[in-house]
Amino acid sequence: MTTDSLPSTARSEALFARARAVTPGGVNSPVRAFRSVGGTPRFIREAHGAHLTDADGTRYLDYIGSWGPMILGHDHPAVREAVASALAGGTSFGAPGEREVQLAEAVTHITGVDRVRFVNSGTEATMSALRLARGFTGRKYILKFRGNYHGHADGLLVEAGSGLMTNAEGALGQAAPSSAGVPQEYAALTLVSEYNDPAALDALMAGRGREIAAVIFEPVVGNAGVLIPTPEFLAALHRVRDHGALLIADEVMTGFRLSLNGATGLLGLTPDLTCWGKIIGGGLPVGAYGGRADVMDFVSPQGPVYQAGTLSGNPLAMAAGLATLEVLEASPALYGRLEAYTTALADGLRSAAREAGVPLSVNHIGSMLTAFHQDAPDGSIRTYADAARSDTAAFARWFQAMLGQGIYWAPSQFESIFVSGAHTDHDLNATLDAARAAYAGRGGA
Ligand code: PMP
Repeated sequence: MTTDSLPSTARSEALFARARAVTPGGVNSPVRAFRSVGGTPRFIREAHGAHLTDADGTRYLDYIGSWGPMILGHDHPAVREAVASALAGGTSFGAPGEREVQLAEAVTHITGVDRVRFVNSGTEATMSALRLARGFTGRKYILKFRGNYHGHADGLLVEAGSGLMTNAEGALGQAAPSSAGVPQEYAALTLVSEYNDPAALDALMAGRGREIAAVIFEPVVGNAGVLIPTPEFLAALHRVRDHGALLIADEVMTGFRLSLNGATGLLGLTPDLTCWGKIIGGGLPVGAYGGRADVMDFVSPQGPVYQAGTLSGNPLAMAAGLATLEVLEASPALYGRLEAYTTALADGLRSAAREAGVPLSVNHIGSMLTAFHQDAPDGSIRTYADAARSDTAAFARWFQAMLGQGIYWAPSQFESIFVSGAHTDHDLNATLDAARAAYAGRGGA
């Protein structure tokens, strides 16, 4: 395919120009701006199943799934009908309703937590869980891992991944804000260790453990690209409780995705608190945090830790989340299918790259995958520093070549892609055909 035959992006370009005049950078969340891959971000008009249609009418096979929520595919009939039925009863009450109870019952039943509180985003979930951990333990420090992203609360924008990922490296334990506007004093309360380094975690806990309220982590990292934890690292995570710190699993991305009970269920983890977002809202804005009754009962109005939300437990959002979890619970074969698709995608990408002599190292688990453009053995990329060695220019060229052929990959080397139940074998073959052309230097790059 030559550049001449690429579909028009005139309407997206016009919308982007209008958007830039009225919104910082033209987008409402940074990675959408295509900064690291270049070109015009596609303004999306509608989405059905595994496909997006942009403002110019071009259809794309979608591997973002709204960055995780759309595990059933876009516009799933059960979700659409549940939202439509909730809509007929009014959009917000500011008073409790039955759907909140039903979704809380579903979450406690699926995950085994005693209590759950709904908020409106993953950011709110992690921010609130940390306040709760500080309130419960009476301690002020938290510990996170380099390249993990937990949303944009001040104290968490420290050595963070996702849209903030750079090649910066500080000493472990030291905290450098990843954003302007985060005072060093806030960042100083966040200690940082290296993901998948049990010795570093043990050493930090031995020195500072009694001051640490909580250790927060991505049980499988999606925000430095996909990083899979080693059994030794998981064991070290469980040991943080010997120091009286709470263990907080950030399952915003992995929850209900890597298994019905998330990465926690898949990996046999037993955190004290868990944070959710994305799938729990079925594509509407929802987050949640939950855990042991004795900890959760510290939350207001039961306990002294304040946390509130005008739209929390919103009936449309609860309906979408509940319908999604109901379909997932009723589809035990789905997770196996997602994993089989993702494994075939990983194998196909590896052989396409190998044939073209392009260095590529693929990490994947369940329905999450990152194809790192670098010459490391498959599965050997385990830390932020490993991921950061990728050739981002090569990735950007490959991304554009895929987009030119109608395959919408995540527009950053340091993100996961998400496979949904709507992806078919036909889609898999189309993706691998496009990848072969892209690695061979064709496809509009
Ligand atoms: N935690 C993790 C692991 C995430 O991946 C994200 C978002 N990608 C967040 C927290 C923040 O969620 P939100 O964007 O809904 O605020």
